[in-house]
Amino acid sequence: MRIVLLGAPGSGKGTQSQRLVEQQRIPQVSTGDLLRAAVAQGTPLGVQAKEAMTAGRLVEDSIVLGMIRERLGEPDTGCGFILDGFPRNLAQARALDTLLQQIGQPLDVVVQLKVDYAELSRRIAGRRTCSDCGRVVNLLTTPREALEQERCPTTGKPHRLFQRPDDNQATVAERLRVYDQQTSPLIEYYAGQGLLRSIDAQGDVAEVSRRLEAVLPR
Ligand code: AMP
Repeated sequence: MRIVLLGAPGSGKGTQSQRLVEQQRIPQVSTGDLLRAAVAQGTPLGVQAKEAMTAGRLVEDSIVLGMIRERLGEPDTGCGFILDGFPRNLAQARALDTLLQQIGQPLDVVVQLKVDYAELSRRIAGRRTCSDCGRVVNLLTTPREALEQERCPTTGKPHRLFQRPDDNQATVAERLRVYDQQTSPLIEYYAGQGLLRSIDAQGDVAEVSRRLEAVLPR
C-alpha cells in the first residue's frame, strides 16, 4: 500500500507512521528524518538544508525531490511506503505524481490527520527524541515512571532524550504558518483526485491508529 500522511507539525504523522510500519510491513519515508540525517552527517545537501530547517521554512524542492527519488528507488519500497512530511506543497505533490506514474506505483490513499492549533502547540512543546534509537515520546502524555523504566533498544539503558532544535516556540509558529500557506492546499488537491480521507487525530494514540486503519483501502 502507498500512503501519504498529511498533517501539520505535531499532528502525529511520525507516531502513526511508526505504528503503520509494524502493521503494514512497509517502510516509513520521512523527509524530515532524511534531512536531519543529512544535516547531522554534514553532507553538502545537509549544509544547504540546515538554514531553512532552523528557521522553520521549507527546504528547496529540488533537494527534497532528489532525496525522495533516491529513496523510492530502493528495493524495500517496492511493496509500498508511508510518506511522512512529503509532499509539503503543490509543486512537490505534482512532482510526486509524475514520479509515481513513471515507476508505475500510484498512491492508494492520502490520510489527513486533523488536530486543532492549541493541541499542536502543546504536543510539540512536550516532544522529545531519543538520541540513540530515535524513538519519539511526549513528556506530557507519557508517565515519567513509564519512561524511566523503558530501555532504549540500542543501548539497553534509559533513553537519552533531547528536544529538536526546530521545536522551539518561534520556529514552531513559522512551521505552522508554512503549513497553512503551503501544505494545506494539498487537502483540496488530493480530495480532487478522490484519494483523501480525513480523521480526527486527537486523543489516545491507539484510538487514532484504529481510526486510521479504518480508512485505509482494503
Ligand atoms: P518534519 O520532521 O517533517 O517536521 O520536518 C522538519 C523540517 O524539515 C521542516 O520544518 C522543513 O524545514 C524540512 N522538511 C521536511 N520535509 C520537507 C519537505 N517535504 N519539503 C521541504 N522541507 C521539508
